[in-house]
Amino acid sequence: MINTQIVPDIVFRENVEELNPFAIAQTQLDETAAVLCLEPAVHAFLREPVRELHVTLSIRMDDGTSKVFKGFRVQYNDARGPTKGGIRFHPDETIDTVKALAAWMTWKCAVVDIPLGGGKGGVICNPKELSNAELERLSRAYVRQVARILGPEMDIPAPDVYTTPQIMAWMADEYSVIRGQNEFGVITGKPLALGGSRGREDATARGGMCCIREASRVLGLETRGATMAIQGFGNAGQFAATLGQELLGAVIVAVSDSRGGIYNPNGLKPQDVIAYKKRTGCLTGYPDAAPISNADLLELDVDILVPSALENVITAENAPRIRARISAELANGPTTPEADYILQRNGVYVIPDFLCNAGGVTVSYFEMVQNAYDRYWSEKTVHERLDEKMTTAFHAVHDKAQELGVHNRLAAYSVAVGRVAEAVKLRGWV
Ligand code: GLU
Repeated sequence: MINTQIVPDIVFRENVEELNPFAIAQTQLDETAAVLCLEPAVHAFLREPVRELHVTLSIRMDDGTSKVFKGFRVQYNDARGPTKGGIRFHPDETIDTVKALAAWMTWKCAVVDIPLGGGKGGVICNPKELSNAELERLSRAYVRQVARILGPEMDIPAPDVYTTPQIMAWMADEYSVIRGQNEFGVITGKPLALGGSRGREDATARGGMCCIREASRVLGLETRGATMAIQGFGNAGQFAATLGQELLGAVIVAVSDSRGGIYNPNGLKPQDVIAYKKRTGCLTGYPDAAPISNADLLELDVDILVPSALENVITAENAPRIRARISAELANGPTTPEADYILQRNGVYVIPDFLCNAGGVTVSYFEMVQNAYDRYWSEKTVHERLDEKMTTAFHAVHDKAQELGVHNRLAAYSVAVGRVAEAVKLRGWV
């Protein structure tokens, strides 16, 4: 039985919904602090990052000119261990997005109970407009600027939106050159040949599939034949399509990327769609499917919706029209706090981002362990250990939601913030 009581009366003020990701992250924490009766000093400490670095990078472009880029690295909280989190290359990157993502990394590592804190990095750039050589120079320049606060015992980056294993390889190399010794453990999501972990590439989606499987069990939903729509078709979205079909037996009826989507109620063939996108660079024009916008995809009458792109796609405006039974958030921050209550009221079972997409950082942590020991695990071992972590975390959150009578995000926050607060107090910081 799912507890859907205790839904506060939210007063919706037209056109003033807060969409700044860091303000949202702070609001979510404030609600959690009230639920946990957190000491005010601990609450105040957890509302802000402990450290943030702003860098300016000058890159030589292929045409001989120089171009300036802004970058950031935020270390949100390291009470439970070194800070951990990806680096995003995106034209719309802002310091507040990075701060929010770093906060969510802190709660993510805590909810799956790995001994790491949370951090995040970003560079304001459009990688689609950069050549491979420019991208390499930008990646190396970023590491040269942030190396002073990175390290396997300090802060360990990883891939995020528009950053790849190749970019991790350049960054690991640049850091090793700076230190004068091999330091592959400074970054995760590396190619296998440079100390990467088996199973890292599809780990975010695979972890999400474990959560969907467990959610379906508690909801009494059969995943075999269940319909799935995926918004966002990068690393997480593409593997969600193949693994949704392979592991859950789901029928993938719609997928979209930043330029639009495709829909076939009888099911798409994920491998063919991925091959088409690789060939043409987009989804538009894919045969055997009708075009669909990102907005319409989110409102499809499907069993499982998988937001896998960016923040703030489910807001107070469209939440009343979301019809999925489960919303499994592989993206970070896709749902606003107001939308959370609307979804809860409408019986949509949300698997919140920092639980649902924690598979990536979980296997990143496995990668760190393997780098430290210089011994490498089989894919089967990675999959089993990932499944165990995700399943345990899912049930801790689900049970907490039942116990407190709150929505799943607030439950996930309660589990995670409780753990971080305990570490902060044990260390004597507050
Ligand atoms: N960028 C991913 C995330 O948001 C992975 C982070 C990591 O592996 O450190 O969870």
